[in-house]
Amino acid sequence: MTKILVFQAKKIITMNASNPYATHVAVQDGRILGAGTLDEMAMYGAYDLNDSFADKILTPGFVEGHAHAMEGGVWDHPYVGYMDRYDPEGNRWKGATSMADVVDILSGIEAGMDTPDTPLFAWGFDPIYFGGDRMSVRELDQVSTARPVLVLHSNGHLLNVNSKVLEMAGITDDTNVYGVLKDDAGKPTGELMEMAAKYMAYKATGNPFFGKIHHHALEQYAKSATNVGTTTATDLFATFDEGSLSAYREVTARDDYALRLMPAMNTLDEGFEDGIATLKAAQKDNHDRLHFGLCKVMTDGSIQGFTGRLKWPGYHNGAPNGLWNMPPEQLAELVMAYHKAGMHLHIHTNGDEASEVMIDAIEAAQTAHYRPDHRHTLQHCQMADASLFRRMAKLGICANLFANHVYYWGDQHAAITMGPDRARRMDACATALREGVPLAIHSDAPVTPLAPLFTAWCAVNRITASGNILGPEERISASEALYAITLGAAYTLHMDHLIGSIETGKYADFAVLENDPLECPVDAIKDIPVWGTIVGGIAHQARARKG
Ligand SMILES: [Zn+2]
Repeated sequence: MTKILVFQAKKIITMNASNPYATHVAVQDGRILGAGTLDEMAMYGAYDLNDSFADKILTPGFVEGHAHAMEGGVWDHPYVGYMDRYDPEGNRWKGATSMADVVDILSGIEAGMDTPDTPLFAWGFDPIYFGGDRMSVRELDQVSTARPVLVLHSNGHLLNVNSKVLEMAGITDDTNVYGVLKDDAGKPTGELMEMAAKYMAYKATGNPFFGKIHHHALEQYAKSATNVGTTTATDLFATFDEGSLSAYREVTARDDYALRLMPAMNTLDEGFEDGIATLKAAQKDNHDRLHFGLCKVMTDGSIQGFTGRLKWPGYHNGAPNGLWNMPPEQLAELVMAYHKAGMHLHIHTNGDEASEVMIDAIEAAQTAHYRPDHRHTLQHCQMADASLFRRMAKLGICANLFANHVYYWGDQHAAITMGPDRARRMDACATALREGVPLAIHSDAPVTPLAPLFTAWCAVNRITASGNILGPEERISASEALYAITLGAAYTLHMDHLIGSIETGKYADFAVLENDPLECPVDAIKDIPVWGTIVGGIAHQARARKG
C-alpha cells in the first residue's frame, strides 16, 4: 500500500448518486478510497494533500466509447477537411474550403516529396460542403499521375484515388466490384465506396488509416485524450495481428501512459471461430490500462457519403440506397456466433434500415441464446426512431449516438440527405432516454474531433454549423449529457464497475476543468478549458493550443 493522496478541488462532480458532490477525493494505489470533505478523507489515515487543483472542477475522466486510435496517427498525413482542426500537439490545421483548395494543398505537398513512389495519403475530405461536387481522378491527376494519391473522406467510408492507384489496383472499365463508382461512360471515377472497393486500392498501396496500429499513433492518441479530459477511449475498429497486439501491450504497459485503452476487434478480418479464439486469447493480457473484449461489426456506410442504408423513403435528394459491408444474412450469422460465444458486440449502424436489421439479428440471437446482460451497442444508430429505441430497450441494446453529427452535418442532413422532418430525429438522445435505452454519445475521432465536452454541447444544444437548432425536442440536459460521456459510456463498455464515476473502488481517473459544466451557460460547455487529466492518481497536463 502506498501513502494516501488527497486531491482538493473547488468542486468534485462525482456522478455517484449517493454522494454527488465533494471537495476532496482520497486516492491510494491508483484507486479511489472515497470522496467527501477533508475531515472525512482524514478518517482513511495519514495523507499527502495535493491542493494544486483547489480552484478547478473535477469530474470523472471522460469515456469515449467510439473513437479510433488513428486519431493519433492520421496527423502524419495531410489534413484536407473542411473545418479547422487541432492535432495532438495543439497545432492548428486550416480547413480546405473548396475542391480547388484540396488540390492546391496536395500539389504543394507532392512537390516537396522526394521519394517518387511513396504514396501520398490525405484524410478528412468532406465534399458534401462543396455543393454536390464529387471528386474524381481528374482532380487527383492534377496532383500527380506518377505517384499514387489517395484521399480518405472524413466519414472514413469513401476513398478517392488518382489514375496511378487505379492502374496499380487493376481497376478498369471491366472491374465489377461493389462500391467501385463509374461514370455514365462506364469508366471508374476514382471514388471507392466501402470496404471491398477501398481494399482493392489499399492492397496496392498499403493502408495507413485503418490497418495495423503502431506505437506512435497510440502515444499521440493518449495526448489527444489528455487535451480534452478523456481517460478511457476505445479503438473501435482494431486489427488484431501480432504487431498491433504487441503495440497495444507495450505502450499501455508504460506507467506514464495517460489512457485506458479498449481496442474493439474488427470481426470482418477472420472467420467467426478464429475471430472468437483470437479475441479470447488477447483478453489474457488485460490489465489496468488495456481492456480487450469488445468486437466491432460494420454493417452499412455513411449517411453524408450516401452509403448508409435507409428505410423508406430513402435519401431526400433521391440518391440510391446505400451499401452493405456484408450481406445482411451473413451479418445475422456473425451476431449469432459472437453472441453465443459470450462476446460484447459494438455494431456500426448509420441508417435506420441497418439499425433495424441488426436489432432483428440481436433479437434472434437473444431468442436462441438468452444472455441477461450482453450490453451489445448500436454505434452511431443515427436514424433510429422511437419504435426502434423501444425495441432496443426491451432487448437490452445500448445506443452510442453520434451527437457531433448535428453540428458538423446537420444542415446538410436537413437539406440533402434526410429532409426536414427526419433530420430532427437524428441522434435522438432525448427519445433514447425517454424510451429507456442506455445512452452514450461520441465523436468517432478522427471523423470529428475527440472532445467529449464538445460532444456534450452538441447533445445539449443541437446547434448546426450554420447556427440553426436541429430538432429542439431532442436536446438533453447538461447533467444527462455529462452522464452520457462518463458513466453512460462506461456502461456500454461493460466498465461501469471500474470507471465513469468518482466513488470508492474505481480507478482514480478525473477530468480537470476550469469551469463547472453543470453551472455554466449551456452554450458555453464546449468552451470550458481543460487543464488535463488524472489517470490512476497521476496528473497529466493538456498541451496548449497554438494558432
Ligand atoms: Zn468509427
